[in-house]
Amino acid sequence: MTHPARYWHREGERIVCTACPRLCTMSEGQHGFCYVRKHEDGRLVSLAYGKPNAVAVDPIEKKPLWHFLPGTTILSMGTAGCNLGCRFCQNWDLSKAKSHHKRALELAPEDVPALARREGAASVAFTYNDPTIYPEYVIDAARAARAAGVAAVGVTAGYISDAARADMYPELDALNIDLKGFSERFYHKLTFSHLQPVLETIEWSVKRGLWVELTTLVIPGHNDDPEELRAQFRWIAEHVGPDVPLHLTAFHPDYKLQDVERTPPETLIRARDEARGFGLRFVYTGNIWDRVGSVTACPGCDLPLIERRWHAVAANRVKADGTCPGCARQIPGVFDARSQSTSGGRRYHLL
Ligand code: SF4
Repeated sequence: MTHPARYWHREGERIVCTACPRLCTMSEGQHGFCYVRKHEDGRLVSLAYGKPNAVAVDPIEKKPLWHFLPGTTILSMGTAGCNLGCRFCQNWDLSKAKSHHKRALELAPEDVPALARREGAASVAFTYNDPTIYPEYVIDAARAARAAGVAAVGVTAGYISDAARADMYPELDALNIDLKGFSERFYHKLTFSHLQPVLETIEWSVKRGLWVELTTLVIPGHNDDPEELRAQFRWIAEHVGPDVPLHLTAFHPDYKLQDVERTPPETLIRARDEARGFGLRFVYTGNIWDRVGSVTACPGCDLPLIERRWHAVAANRVKADGTCPGCARQIPGVFDARSQSTSGGRRYHLL
């Protein structure tokens, strides 16, 4: 069963998908680059609607979202396919798969909040691959979730068209957007996409008032040039401000980049300090052991507010109204779910 897709127009006998800047043109029977949108019977359909191919319960810290309902669990789902072609993809078994080759859970949008509640999750995430390729399902499922008091989160590369973004993002409570590098060369050669639309998405989302955290997977020899990283930190400070958390995470060899070494911890620690030097207040490191890079400290009085051990929250001193108990400064983020069940950093698969 397919589902009618939005974001397309006809060009003669062919259909152009406008969900992302790739603008795939499809003759009858053809799929787009992401392989879950198809020209079928003269219209564009989604093969992914209501059929996630991966469903798991994660600590929300794993998304990573560190200023949004810290310590809670999140029902996470993704489909096959992707609109990017990252050579370093860490979910390539999903992103490079065809949806009909993978098992899927039949999960209507209205059933999403009940599943989240059953698993003790405070929120639901569209993640693993990129929700840009199934906006119709994200919109309907996020609406159902929020109506039932379950928050909705998107984890994305932000390579999305203006129209799909304007419809989908306001349905979400929080976003983690990858800023995969800071050069067009990197985006073009290693992700088969472009940098500028991603920067526009980040700026648009923050200015729209959405809760946004950014992630950069630092890959030795590809996007770890100190000058390039400094340009990125400067851009973040100037364009979206110092309160947007930035996660600098370590690469491990995967997919087509098997010959690249793991990111040395010193690279991330140096980058973390440089980013803070540009005034960014919440810079974290991931996939390495780094106590400083895993603590949220108050920018006002330096009190350690949230301490983490990998994906588990070890201590959370932020008050329920989001303020620091030491100096009453408001900490940016969403911290009001203290009564929700905590994850303890556990993860398990439902599919
Ligand atoms: S969403 Fe998929 S089909 Fe549509 S333009 Fe992007 S890659 Fe192509």
